[in-house]
Amino acid sequence: MHFVDVAGISRVKVVPASRIESVVRAGVGWSSVWAVVTVDEHFALEPPFGTPAGDDRLVPDTACMRSLGSMPGWSWVPASLFTQELVPLETCPRGALVRAAAALAARGLSVQATLEVEMTLLRDGVPATPGPGYSVRSLLAIEPFVSDLAAELDHVGIPVEQMHPEYSPGQFEVSTGPCAPLEAADRLLLLRFVTRAVAARYGLDVSFAPVVFAGGLGNGNHLHLSLWRDGVNLMANGTDQAGMHPEATTFVAGILAELPALMAVIAPSIPSYLRLVPGHWSGAYTAWGVENREAALRFIPGTLTSRGRSANVELKTVDGAANPYLAIAAALVAGLAGVDRAAPLPAATSEDPTTLDATALLARAIRRLPTTLGEAIQPFAASDVLRAGLGERLHASILAVRRKEWVDHGALDEESLVAMHRFLY
Ligand code: GLU
Ligand code: MG
Repeated sequence: MHFVDVAGISRVKVVPASRIESVVRAGVGWSSVWAVVTVDEHFALEPPFGTPAGDDRLVPDTACMRSLGSMPGWSWVPASLFTQELVPLETCPRGALVRAAAALAARGLSVQATLEVEMTLLRDGVPATPGPGYSVRSLLAIEPFVSDLAAELDHVGIPVEQMHPEYSPGQFEVSTGPCAPLEAADRLLLLRFVTRAVAARYGLDVSFAPVVFAGGLGNGNHLHLSLWRDGVNLMANGTDQAGMHPEATTFVAGILAELPALMAVIAPSIPSYLRLVPGHWSGAYTAWGVENREAALRFIPGTLTSRGRSANVELKTVDGAANPYLAIAAALVAGLAGVDRAAPLPAATSEDPTTLDATALLARAIRRLPTTLGEAIQPFAASDVLRAGLGERLHASILAVRRKEWVDHGALDEESLVAMHRFLY
């Protein structure tokens, strides 16, 4: 049973197959205080979370269970949190995504989502591929691992769109096809799980951390979203900006407006901000643009023949420290708030925002995103949209964790921070 906590760390509980039936009914115990666990496994014990008392239930969603080819006899299943009365727990990240998707569905809307997974492969603590990016040399350095990984992803039902060695030595990326938001987050967990399992067979360790070596390029988890109504992709063949339908532009505008507030959820770790620097294609500014890789929101129109299916917007600021359920839920909440208030979308930006002068930045409402987790906390705390959309208690738990992580580790040097987070996710 696989679960990700608010600190973004994958946790597991293992049950024997003979117990599955009873576990499906009542789950297994999970301490309530886990709602405020931090990256170094302390607890942000501030009200209303200031007690070690309380227990919840971790319940597997067996409709999503997969047998693992790389681990014969084992199955993987994602889990959600419920109370002992077996009602959904408000602080459950997976539950928050179910609620966010339901809020869209209540307006007749749906979303197709996928997260690109960048990672760094290490052998004996050093990058397992030599570079350069996309090179044959890098691919061949890890070919047996890539072949086995492709076979295992196929076995567990994850449709791979493409894989490639990324820019930095050791960096590798897997892109998967779009699907419903809950499935996209579940898939990310499963993909990480099987990647680790297969990599271990080749003596490889895997880091999904936003930055793996101080001063190096980062690992992103770019989130792709398309908005649909009645089977039509509202991001294609429309009459509004970039060929979107008006409702899709308001959705994008909603995400753009909440972007500073979203950062504490989608780039939640202190090292996340070492990744989010201009020039790294990670989206350091509150800008959107068509195929603009320096904008936090890159609109991807797709090709002439695939547009109706594939046009989407890519949120680049998401990284591997983010809880994928919370990251997608928060983006949906922000987008839906934009739809509800018919938010206007500023003009698209085709330039690198660092090259624009103050007047141009102001005219397009482009701002630098928070440069530290400390700066990201305030807009998240102040966001009524995210508080209402995620739920009061979940919002409070995220806030408590981010505050404690910043107080406890904000003064650490870059090298120590990166080492501390390297293998957490
Ligand atoms: N590695 C970059 C990041 O941190 C993204 C590079 C790319 O565009 O794929 O987001
Ligand atoms: Mg990439």
